Amino acid sequence: MSEKIHITGLKPAELVELAAELGEPRYRAIQIFKAVHERRLRSFDDITDLPKKLRERLADTADISRLTVTSRYISNDGTRRYLMKTASGNPVETVFIPSESRDTICFSSQSGCPLKCDFCLTAKLGLLSNLTVGEIVEQIIIVLNDVYGVGGETPHGTNLVGMGAGEPFLNFENLIAALEIMADENGLFIVPNRVTISTAGIVPKIHEFAKLENRPHLAISLSSARNELRDKLMPINKRWNLDELLSAAKEFEGSLRRGERFTFEYVMLGGVNDSAADAAELARLLDRYQLSRVKINLIPHNGAEKLDYNSSTPESVERFKSILESRGVSAYVRQPRGRDIYAACGQLAAMDEARGTAAGGGE
Ligand code: SF4
Repeated sequence: MSEKIHITGLKPAELVELAAELGEPRYRAIQIFKAVHERRLRSFDDITDLPKKLRERLADTADISRLTVTSRYISNDGTRRYLMKTASGNPVETVFIPSESRDTICFSSQSGCPLKCDFCLTAKLGLLSNLTVGEIVEQIIIVLNDVYGVGGETPHGTNLVGMGAGEPFLNFENLIAALEIMADENGLFIVPNRVTISTAGIVPKIHEFAKLENRPHLAISLSSARNELRDKLMPINKRWNLDELLSAAKEFEGSLRRGERFTFEYVMLGGVNDSAADAAELARLLDRYQLSRVKINLIPHNGAEKLDYNSSTPESVERFKSILESRGVSAYVRQPRGRDIYAACGQLAAMDEARGTAAGGGE
């Protein structure tokens, strides 16, 4: 693998240090940062406002690009799904989801995932690697360039969700550094308020996340309000059970800004966790912890051959939602997007293993 620096993962201050090592002034570092992140240029040769000699020295020292797109699928509904690979060949998956008011990019934080959620195909890959800071940022740059062309401003309203392959809180430092880079006004300028990070329930990191000064929004994947079932569906529950998770959520609630809420995600599995009793149990759980600034995202599961789960019927999803609402809980159904290209969670590995290349698909 390349010994060069992946320049896309350097914060502005780190770029200033690199520039100094190359005997270059500070303003060059800002120029390079803007070229890589604001203009989204993908090769030093393209940064034509830098002296040619400097471009050559940079190319000897650093890479801008470390990810390669191996496949791209475009859905009838405009959703785009990208399979990429790292320089060491590990799969990375990113999804672009357009909508009238805003576009959302769902990125991965790890290649594969060490957690063993029973309903998720990514889990079958195990952990292949933590993505580096640069590999996290580069996913977004690649997608924006593909959709909007190289250069130009990041379209207003682009949202990010850390819900692709992997558990973001198990790659916490790289994740936070990547978000800081992406928030920079000289770069992509995607501020934390437009970012949501989803965790399967890494409790100590929820506490840490709550204390971040300028933090993104939080989603917690719940999928059952009963320990016995959650142990099976999301074995991370054996490490931090519902009591520990909900206590952390309660503390997190205390850190919410004005008007902000956080989310519990609930993957709906037909005949497994979608009964009226399950919905009532969930409402009781929220009530027990007096969680009021929370909403529930109901996510109908995407059945896949290699998994023993089926989708909930639309009727059971609606029933579940109305029971929650009747108990004063805000509940939403996440509309499936990109089904024809298997862009929805948990289906990606199935499609690509069939072609001989593994890929992920998170919560
Ligand atoms: S659902 Fe998310 S946390 Fe669980 S195994 Fe899949 S990628 Fe990992």
